[in-house]
Amino acid sequence: MLELRNIQKSYTVGSFYQTALDGVSLAFRDNEFVAILGPSGSGKTTLLNLVGGLDRYDSGDLLIDGKSTADFSEAQWDRYRNHAVGFIFQNYNLIGHSSVLSNVETGMTLSGLSTSERRKRAYEVLERVGLKEHVHKRPNQLSGGQMQRVAIARALANDPDIILADEPTGSIDSETARQIMELIQEIAKEKLVILVTHDEHIAETYAERTIKLSDGKVTGDSHPYEKDGGSNGRLSFTRTAMAFTQAIRLSFNNLRTKKVRTAITAFAGSIGIVGVALVLALANGMNQEIDDLERTTLSEFPIQIEEAPIDFDALEGGPQQARDDIWEDRPDTDVLYPYDDEFEFTQHFNDIDEEFLTHLEDIDDEWVHEVSHVRGIDYTLLKDTGAGYDIDAGDVGFSQSLAETAFFEDNYDMLAGEAPEDESGLLLIVDRYNRISENFLEALGMDTGTEEIEPEEFLGRRFLNPLLDERIGYDEEEDRYYRRGAADIYADGEGIELEIEGIARPAGEVPGGILDTGLKYHPDLETAHLEHAEESEVVEAQQADPETNIFTGYSLNESDYEDRMQEFGADATPKRIDIYPVDFEAKNEVVDYLDEYNEDREEDERIVYTDFASIITDLSGDVIDSVSYVLIGFSAISLVVSSIMIGIITYVSVLERTKEIGILRSLGARKRDISRVFNAESVTIGFVAGFFGVLVAYLLTFPINRFIARLVDGVENLASMPVWSFVGLIILSVFLTFVAGLIPARIAARKDPVKALRVD
Ligand code: ADP
Ligand code: MG
Repeated sequence: MLELRNIQKSYTVGSFYQTALDGVSLAFRDNEFVAILGPSGSGKTTLLNLVGGLDRYDSGDLLIDGKSTADFSEAQWDRYRNHAVGFIFQNYNLIGHSSVLSNVETGMTLSGLSTSERRKRAYEVLERVGLKEHVHKRPNQLSGGQMQRVAIARALANDPDIILADEPTGSIDSETARQIMELIQEIAKEKLVILVTHDEHIAETYAERTIKLSDGKVTGDSHPYEKDGGSNGRLSFTRTAMAFTQAIRLSFNNLRTKKVRTAITAFAGSIGIVGVALVLALANGMNQEIDDLERTTLSEFPIQIEEAPIDFDALEGGPQQARDDIWEDRPDTDVLYPYDDEFEFTQHFNDIDEEFLTHLEDIDDEWVHEVSHVRGIDYTLLKDTGAGYDIDAGDVGFSQSLAETAFFEDNYDMLAGEAPEDESGLLLIVDRYNRISENFLEALGMDTGTEEIEPEEFLGRRFLNPLLDERIGYDEEEDRYYRRGAADIYADGEGIELEIEGIARPAGEVPGGILDTGLKYHPDLETAHLEHAEESEVVEAQQADPETNIFTGYSLNESDYEDRMQEFGADATPKRIDIYPVDFEAKNEVVDYLDEYNEDREEDERIVYTDFASIITDLSGDVIDSVSYVLIGFSAISLVVSSIMIGIITYVSVLERTKEIGILRSLGARKRDISRVFNAESVTIGFVAGFFGVLVAYLLTFPINRFIARLVDGVENLASMPVWSFVGLIILSVFLTFVAGLIPARIAARKDPVKALRVD
């Protein structure tokens, strides 16, 4: 039983105030066919929407089963619409992209009926309205009369107690209208049917009771209901909720009708995913490549312990940087400037003592191929004082050879003299500001007090570079070898004579200069020593790598050495220890073992080792990581852009589907259900975009790999997507589009169903 008590309803549009219903009081029987008759604008539709729970009254009360609805919650109204009311509209209000069957099923879906039950009932009502053969058609494949029959079937589907029909035949020709009216009359035998019409003839022909409405007031009632106050209690209903599958189905159907747009949106959405996926694939591949490299090639690199290890960390921003900071302009002269380089970084010296050697001896044999002790013999230059080679001022060390002459020519300018052309020539390298260390001057026995030094002071200076076996002596009497002092070597004077032939400094903007400052020798000097060493029985020439020609110096023949160096006592400590691990895992064990030694020691008593493999891989790993971050950043921007676009497109979809929102609400859908529909839509797009993006990225890795394989020898299948990225990126895409669609979905949920239904 329905009862309206003094219902007031008005609309304000801008400053215009319109009373639609003005104190309407009416009561309806549980079962009767009522026509509400009135001219256009008299408030009929407004009344119907209030009764159907689509719209809210301003004041008064609507009683359902004797219960006031004044305090009804949104959820209660939703349930009421879904279970108790069936709407039939003039313009049918069918969901265009859904089939006849699913249009009829929608309301039942909201009330949570099982699929089979839904299907059964839908067929029943469709048979009843005579549309059994048309269940799989879409609304636009039907005539107006047929569409209205679908609407009637939909209204009947949930077996409501009240059917509300708003000018149901307004858009239909008179013959069809008659059939529709007869169908509604039939229905009215078992339900309360409230029919709104402006057609007096229809009201008179079909309705049992006619209520006249004019300017929002009841002006006549042919068969008023004097309520007895009793209630048969038929109006009770369970809650409604749209299953997520239903939301997905609705959005899926909708997307299917807009295939092109969906495809374009998904494509746009996938671009960012493709980008991120490819960056991940490449970074992943490169890191794997480095891992492999480390495991195979680089694991052959030894862990090195030197007396004075190079501190790679200290080199960065080290002395060269400090020097560059003091001087700004490069001098336009060949004059050299002595400077005090005492502020150079403090170097660590490894004390390779008995204790450490014992520690090393206990290393697990399974980890290492070999632990080799290198006892090298340094190059030594004896300087020519004019009266012979001087030994008093000590040796002048000289480090690199100029093996890479092309590199030298490109990156260095000659300040004075000529670059050496054979083994007898030495080159003096100064820094980019023509400066030369005072220590170096001291070693040469030169005055360190002057501000400037002419290049001629260096050019022509002569040195003796003793042959290596000159440094090992053999005592026939005692039958033992010994290390010869500089004085002995000097006395014999056997060696290669060298002369400073040129002075050079780093050219252009070369920052540090690759070569250390000091004296450099010509590569032929090595050859000369080598040739001599081959004839010697005590010295073995070592060349680490014949291909790159990187010269590591000389060492004593290892097997002879052990015996011979027994005699030297303390001198037997190695200059360098090379530990060759068996493989990558073993290398980590060795490193841990060395760290163990250092654990409880003071800074300067620790043994600093150089793990070349990890220096190389750390460096390249860092580079790859930072490049990846930059690229992922760019891809992320495109992800954001496409997300925003998906948000906009979802909003467009909301605008387009406004009517559907109204229909769903009239069928009892909650606000939450409406946002679900649109969330489902954006999630669907996100899934398609993510899936498509991952697929495209995967397919792209093939040509990319072929391309890289052609560029870099031996690098195959570089780009490889990690398995988690497939799933992860799809989830990311779904998440982003979901977030992007939240606002439009909210807008959709908040739409006024009455207004939504008015949209064409
Ligand atoms: P009927 O269905 O009898 O033609 P309505 O109930 O649709 O009449 O409208 C009653 C009055 O309320 C009309 O003057 C109409 O312009 C006004 N009205 C109805 N709905 C709205 C609305 N959403 N906003 C503003 N005015 C409205
Ligand atoms: Mg109307």
